[in-house]
Amino acid sequence: MADVPSNAPSHCPGTGSDNAGKASACQGCPNQAFCASGASKATDPAIQEIKDKMASVKHKILVLSGKGGVGKSTFSAHLAHGIASDDSKQVALLDADMCGPSIPKIMGVEGEQVHQSGSGWSPVYVEENLGIMSIGFLLSSLDDAVIWRGPKKNGLIKQFLRDVDWGEVDYLIVDTPPGTSDEHLSIVQYLSATQVDGAVIITTPQHESQIFPPTTGGAMKMCKDLSIPFLGKVPLDPRIGKSCDEGKSFLTEIPGSSATVVYKDIIHRIQEHCATHQSDVEATA
Ligand code: SF4
Repeated sequence: MADVPSNAPSHCPGTGSDNAGKASACQGCPNQAFCASGASKATDPAIQEIKDKMASVKHKILVLSGKGGVGKSTFSAHLAHGIASDDSKQVALLDADMCGPSIPKIMGVEGEQVHQSGSGWSPVYVEENLGIMSIGFLLSSLDDAVIWRGPKKNGLIKQFLRDVDWGEVDYLIVDTPPGTSDEHLSIVQYLSATQVDGAVIITTPQHESQIFPPTTGGAMKMCKDLSIPFLGKVPLDPRIGKSCDEGKSFLTEIPGSSATVVYKDIIHRIQEHCATHQSDVEATA
């Protein structure tokens, strides 16, 4: 994907797309002639730079949800906590939710500052082996609304993927915004030259207490229809929200709860998947 100019309209289809310069959003855009000429489809050098940066990251996992408020960031945080409970694993958590960055609060590092060094932005470390980067660290106030146009968000995602100095990392977990948006396309395109291990989709209808009874067959049916593994269902437990509000790991706060057992099982299955993915990649290399 080529750079999207800052003067592009908010519904810009992406300068690297087949519709560049031709979509209805392009009408009246100052870049229309350039994009319609095809010149904008040149490969963004950032894709190679991100590939080089990600060479030190063994596994990359995206966390997605079809809608907001389903516990996506909570899951991302606990996936990071769960893997990092093994001291031998170095974990990075990237909060790419530009509209509602909640990871700093959930991880108990709200108000921390990001430092820039010659080798890039330094993550904020929750533990020695667990680093975080979030737009939340860059806002002057957490009450600041982040209403940015697509190109600016895409530019920041590029910076996050290319310019954060993660060092050697076993797992990079990317907490994406809710829904399907420009940001998801950017993340996937920028990571296209790297090996992403997979994506975890969070949804609500399968809670055991049936507070949200499935109306369309639920996540299990969706997984069956799409031939993707169903990882598990985390029971509702109000103590999860309390732990998040206090910036603590529910897994260590309430280790014996049934939700913790399910979380750990899901985390284990994700790690198993990553190990299999790595073997497959090595076998085809
Ligand atoms: S002309 Fe180019 S920059 Fe403008 S909206 Fe279309 S694709 Fe985006």
